[in-house]
Amino acid sequence: MHDVVVVGSGGGAMIGAYLAQHAGLSTVVLERTDLVGGTSAYSGGACWLPGSDVQQRAGIGDSTESARAFLEALLPPGDHPLVDTFLDEAPRLVAALEADELFDFEWLPFPEYFDAPGRATMGRSIQPVNVKRDELPAEAASLVRPPVERDRVGAGGRNTLSGGQSLIGRSLAAFLRDGGTVRTGHHVTGFVVEDGRVVGVEATTPDGPIEVRARLGVLAAAGGFEGNQALREERGVPGDAEWSMAPRGTNQGELIDAGAAIGARVANLDQGWFCPGLAQPDGGGSFTLGFRSGVMVDANGRRYANECLPYDRFGREMAKSPDRIPSYLVFDSREGGRLPAIAMPEGDPEEHLAAGTWVRADTLAELADRLGLADLEATVKRFNAFVDTGVDEDFGRGSDEYDVFFAGGPGPNKALVEVDQPPFYAARFVLSDLGTKGGLVTDEHGRVVSTGGEPIPGLYAAGNTAASIMGALYPAPGVPLGTAMVFASRAVQHLVE
Ligand code: FAD
Repeated sequence: MHDVVVVGSGGGAMIGAYLAQHAGLSTVVLERTDLVGGTSAYSGGACWLPGSDVQQRAGIGDSTESARAFLEALLPPGDHPLVDTFLDEAPRLVAALEADELFDFEWLPFPEYFDAPGRATMGRSIQPVNVKRDELPAEAASLVRPPVERDRVGAGGRNTLSGGQSLIGRSLAAFLRDGGTVRTGHHVTGFVVEDGRVVGVEATTPDGPIEVRARLGVLAAAGGFEGNQALREERGVPGDAEWSMAPRGTNQGELIDAGAAIGARVANLDQGWFCPGLAQPDGGGSFTLGFRSGVMVDANGRRYANECLPYDRFGREMAKSPDRIPSYLVFDSREGGRLPAIAMPEGDPEEHLAAGTWVRADTLAELADRLGLADLEATVKRFNAFVDTGVDEDFGRGSDEYDVFFAGGPGPNKALVEVDQPPFYAARFVLSDLGTKGGLVTDEHGRVVSTGGEPIPGLYAAGNTAASIMGALYPAPGVPLGTAMVFASRAVQHLVE
């Protein structure tokens, strides 16, 4: 029997597992797939952990207090005690991790997602420094899930682990070094409860059903329910399981349901970390950000938002009308027929054209005709006129630090680039997400709380299994991972006590 059972192996799970094992608690990680890392391994590895030494070393203007001001300006009015817990804990967590030679972080210049008091210019996110595969023990390196563009075609990882892969590789290596146990192929289906206390989990394995017992507690960190279409519909999460970014077939929400079944409170169930998703020939969607040119139009061929908005904000604009799903990014040939944006993965333009997820035409009129985008020509004409003046009079594209981060246009406003070089393309976009963020409500110790408001003994949650402390807000890069890691850390502190 172990002291701690961790369910799932994303960023929160692996940091929690590492901290528990490092503190002397024997810990087992149960992961349903045969790879470690989940969506977290796909991620850029940005961690929003304000006030840390990493930011001070980088000399950026940042402090816990400026981050607090930023969040206070953006969250609904009122007290947010878990936000205070998060802000207090974040620098401590970074210091604790950096005390271990296997962890090393650096500042990641990437603008925050709102222009609000307390915003740090070019952001305050940090990321794990890249690590070479052969610098990690072979067992750890071989278990890390490959980046999304390789994973989806069944190819292996790269020699250099960056972003989320580095986070997972480093925490897994440290966990295994300290004697931790990883059990892949363990699909957890429920909790074992005795005398009102969670004492373990039930799992199905290739060898049949088992119980895995925990002396001290269970940390549920198995993602959200983004991969479960029935639950999405029931709970009103826009988008579609097929378009979500979680590894296929994972993150079905069993742990959230199992928690609710033993009396846990749940919240935010209609929420996700949203993004525009490039429609793929296989029916999937690809997280897309950093539009450099083109206009995004609805079923009528009309723009409806600033295409350069931070991805969650753009996704929420898409969700406002069925006319916007699908949308079409209409772009020209200035990049040689490639998508003028970062899509993970982009796919092959010729395959898109053959599958009809992209349409190419010599004129905008023909493109509009083929897709029924009635107002497309007028939309592009109006947009191209904004390029000359440098002012997007409709949606203010290019007026924010974030808008111009990826942009490189030649005019007065770098985010405005004419759509005028034939042939023209229309790429279909759907509403994707990086995970749902509604789930089990936790307290300041990461303990799952019952509908009556009391902690459920032995049960902790983090990451997208827990209800996000940010509610519907996605304020800055790295908030999903940063909050997951902090509350996993809080849970371990409580377990150690
Ligand atoms: P996951 O990382 O998905 O981990 C869940 C794990 O649990 C999976 O391995 C899954 O197989 C396993 N599991 C599920 N159910 C069970 C079960 N019943 N039993 C056992 N195991 C189970 N966020 C950031 O903060 N910073 C970024 O830079 C960033 N970049 C991103 C880039 C991309 C391309 C994508 C797709 C996402 C990005 N995100 C980023 C979002 C972030 O990666 C996710 O929201 C977050 O990692 C989810 O963490 P999680 O631990 O909740 O879930």
